[in-house]
Amino acid sequence: MFDSGGSAGELARRLRSAVEGEVMFDRASRGRYATDASIYQVEPVGVLVPRSDADVQAAFDVCRQLRVPLLARGAGSSQCGQTVGAALVIDHSKHLNRVVAFDRDARTVTVEPGLVLDALNAWLKPFGLWFPVDVSTSAQATLGGMAGNNSCGSRSIAYGNMVHNVRVIDARLADGTIARFGPEAEMTSAPPRVRSLVDSLRAIGAREADEIATRVPAVLRRVGGYNIDVFHPVSERPYTADGSVNYAHLLVGSEGTLAWTREITLSLAPIPAHRALGVVSFPSLYRAMECARNIVTLGPSAVELVDRTMIELARDNPAFRPVIDAALVGEPDAILLTEFVGEEAADPARKIAHLETLMSDLGLPGSVVPLVDAGLQRALWEVRKAGLNIMMSLRGDGKPVSFIEDCAVPLEHLADYVDRLSEIFRRHGTRGTWYAHASVGTLHVRPILDMRRDGAAKMRAIAEEASALVREYKGAYSGEHGDGLVRSEWVAWQFGPRLTHAFEEIKALFDPDGIMNPGKIVRPRPMDERSLFRYPPGYRTLPVATALDWSAWNVDYDPVADIFTAPGTGGDPARGFGKAVEMCNNNGHCRKFDAGTMCPSYRVTRDEVHLTRGRANTLRLALTGQLGSEFASPAVREALDLCVSCKGCRRDCPTGVDMARMKIEFNHQWQRAHGIALKDRVIANLPRWAPWAARLPALANLRDALPGGARLSEACWGLSAKRSLPRFRRDTFFSTQRERDDAGAADVVLFVDTFTEYFEPENAHAALAVLAAAGRRVALAQPLREDAERARPLCCGRTFLAAGLVDEAKREAQRLLRALAPHVERGAFVVGLEPSCLLGLRDEYLAMSLGEPARQLAERALLIEEYLVREHRAGRLHLPLVALPERHALVHGHCHQKAFDALGPTREVLRLVPELAVDVVESSCCGMAGSFGYEAAHYDVSMRMAELALLPAVRNARPGTLIVADGTSCRHQIADGTAASGRREAMHAVRVLARALDRAGSAAGV
Ligand SMILES: Cc1cc2nc3c(=O)[nH]c(=O)nc-3n(C[C@H](O)[C@H](O)[C@H](O)COP(=O)(O)OP(=O)(O)OC[C@H]3O[C@@H](n4cnc5c(N)ncnc54)[C@H](O)[C@@H]3O)c2cc1C
Ligand code: SF4
Ligand code: SF4
Repeated sequence: MFDSGGSAGELARRLRSAVEGEVMFDRASRGRYATDASIYQVEPVGVLVPRSDADVQAAFDVCRQLRVPLLARGAGSSQCGQTVGAALVIDHSKHLNRVVAFDRDARTVTVEPGLVLDALNAWLKPFGLWFPVDVSTSAQATLGGMAGNNSCGSRSIAYGNMVHNVRVIDARLADGTIARFGPEAEMTSAPPRVRSLVDSLRAIGAREADEIATRVPAVLRRVGGYNIDVFHPVSERPYTADGSVNYAHLLVGSEGTLAWTREITLSLAPIPAHRALGVVSFPSLYRAMECARNIVTLGPSAVELVDRTMIELARDNPAFRPVIDAALVGEPDAILLTEFVGEEAADPARKIAHLETLMSDLGLPGSVVPLVDAGLQRALWEVRKAGLNIMMSLRGDGKPVSFIEDCAVPLEHLADYVDRLSEIFRRHGTRGTWYAHASVGTLHVRPILDMRRDGAAKMRAIAEEASALVREYKGAYSGEHGDGLVRSEWVAWQFGPRLTHAFEEIKALFDPDGIMNPGKIVRPRPMDERSLFRYPPGYRTLPVATALDWSAWNVDYDPVADIFTAPGTGGDPARGFGKAVEMCNNNGHCRKFDAGTMCPSYRVTRDEVHLTRGRANTLRLALTGQLGSEFASPAVREALDLCVSCKGCRRDCPTGVDMARMKIEFNHQWQRAHGIALKDRVIANLPRWAPWAARLPALANLRDALPGGARLSEACWGLSAKRSLPRFRRDTFFSTQRERDDAGAADVVLFVDTFTEYFEPENAHAALAVLAAAGRRVALAQPLREDAERARPLCCGRTFLAAGLVDEAKREAQRLLRALAPHVERGAFVVGLEPSCLLGLRDEYLAMSLGEPARQLAERALLIEEYLVREHRAGRLHLPLVALPERHALVHGHCHQKAFDALGPTREVLRLVPELAVDVVESSCCGMAGSFGYEAAHYDVSMRMAELALLPAVRNARPGTLIVADGTSCRHQIADGTAASGRREAMHAVRVLARALDRAGSAAGV
């Protein structure tokens, strides 16, 4: 086969001359494609991101000639390692994602393999249709990958798996043959190569009929091996209505080992008009599992388990507690979320009544809480997902590992299976949390294992004991996630030697040279071959003297006792930074495009390198010497370049990867190794030179006043000539304010940040006016008398942090902390206006080793809207607000506001203005992100981020709508981005309040 050394160069050269798409052979790119959501890591030979099917064809031709293996990849969210291998990885997710054909009457759609499920369903929604294989990863999973894995959704009991919903696969074989695989009757018109292939497959099916009947588990959830049972159906749910053979079904679940999917034709279903949820509480997990088989007789569309651990995790979260508490009866050990659907509202309601009767009959009267409200139902599904997320965010080297996560057993044995497998975990010194698809006997469970130490041995032992249970109960070892590297070894165990041999024959018929994703399903490697692990023997983290405190990640965990060791004791040579980076388990959640913030740069470029996952992987590879001996490598700098530090990942990543904080650390390390560019130093030092600029604003603002000034600044400083810069003001806030005599008795301290002080002092005046109208005694945060730089206003240090100048930021922070300490000790609140400055006091300050004063400040630091809402809820806020001429406000949330759940208060406080309707733009980052958007190198990306949602929403806002944005840069972006189409100016929320007060004042003749 292929010699990955010398020939890789030849492969790269030939690909580059044959395709239009991106060809990547550098170590970092290959490293980013070496992992999926499994425990494995195998470096590909190279990566192709094809622009068109012609590119794929060309790649097939080149690879065939050079005998290079091929590996198809969508979102790479597979859990079993089927998406990693020493091959040319072809990532179809970026460009091959169109809807190709749609037949509303026949309820079919034909799509390219890279289309994401949620995108398809959004496209179908106006037609009242959906594709109902609703995998949890619906926001990332591509239809090609779903077909590759024979994926299954929560509602498979009603709709089946992928195999039940695929009609035709238009495929490319390894030898380049294009063939349409579908119903038997349509295969007669196939090319001779395909007809002969089909004849041979049919013969194998006929020969193995009795073996199929004996060895293929007769459960709905069986996705291991090839679907040889197309020839003799055994599944609880037939693949076709009339039992006829459909050859596309043989490709479904084949994990890219037989052919490349070019297009897929899918069957669609009508969107149910009504849904209702019956939440059943059980005194024990065993009882819940016992009852599952009775519940499914009522015809639910889903029955999903949430166990005690997850209930508790959800209850720990104040946002989820009311939702989960409203759904429980007493203190259950497990709940089953039972969903019913129907065309009429009465249909699901009737089913819920049946459920209540059934539970009474089963000795659990009053155990059902019906949820009819769609919002409540959604909230509860979210709780389930969030519970899993919290579980996944376990710190330390022990992690929940997916390898027996989806065994499927007949429902009558589910309770015993859970009980006995839990006992197996206990014997091996671990535990697992149970959740998911009780309806079809597929419960998810991941025992916590340390894959760097004894994890491989325990994994083998647990897998063997679990498989014995599966066999005893006549279940399927692989019931949802496929075979890949972790389970292909078990194909022979599950199907026996004859069918295993038949699988090898099938593979050879499709792919005689064995170049399609080799080593998966047939001819596998052992699951515990440690050289294939992401943490193989010899895995070491480089020592790094970190600038930020990462010790909270540097811990060990005992899963049985459920105890963490003290911060800093985990043995990470990078002081916890390495372990923080390793929190990314590659689940791919950051590839989403919904209303959340994460990840704006990926949304624009759709490149793996610009994804939180791509960045975390690059950091991990660099930190472990896999990109060379130096951590501060250019490859990492490149991967982080378009990260706008929006903290979307901090909020949305299930395992809490905070790339913004990691970027600060990396920038710091980079500067230590390579120095800092003059331009970056100047921008970082803004708080120090701004007082001088404010004294000479005409000079400071010359760049935008002089013809050619902007172009010159682009040439010399890299600041985009297409941008105006913020204008320095002579009338800074502190130039017009005197120190207050009663500062020592103030309830509130107003922290005026650098941007507000020099560029928009009216915001601080508005804040003062609002707080005064509310009757608050307000002090201004000002330097102490003994401060050596007393004349210079206080600053949080944000600009220094952004540049990685952590020591400088710390100096600013200490100055601020000293000045605020007396107020904080008195219990006053520190209130600020600029989200990134104020929220930094609650976030980065806690990672800068600033001690107890920083912890105390973090508890008292609030955005002004948070403070006002807090007071309002406590009945202590009385603002005499009157209606404004504008009756509508459109709010764009700053990313950090969203990351810290601080946008709600802005909406709430604006709603205090009489007759003001408040809407929030479903936007991600505005694209400005401090100095990022001002830089010529980032201008285009910055504008594209803004154009994703924010700018179109602002442009479409009715005239007279108040555009509200709390971030200085967000306001600048809105002004710049609408300049050509009728400039819209955004304002801080506090100015809206101040205007409503002013009008009250004028109305009263004040
Ligand atoms: C947190 C989490 C939750 C999950 N929940 C579910 C769930 O509810 N249900 C479920 O079934 N799975 C689930 N999965 C597994 C996974 O997300 C799904 O299997 C998903 O459908 C894979 O889609 P993908 O685009 O990531 O495919 P990939 O992982 O990229 O690929 C999957 C397989 O398909 C092959 N393939 C991809 N494209 C092609 C092509 N064009 N031609 C031929 N072969 C191709 C690949 O080689 C690979 O073998 C979950 C995973 C995670 C991490
Ligand atoms: S960064 Fe977070 S969301 Fe993205 S793949 Fe890693 S763990 Fe998942
Ligand atoms: S901070 Fe924002 S841009 Fe950076 S990786 Fe996270 S979500 Fe993406």
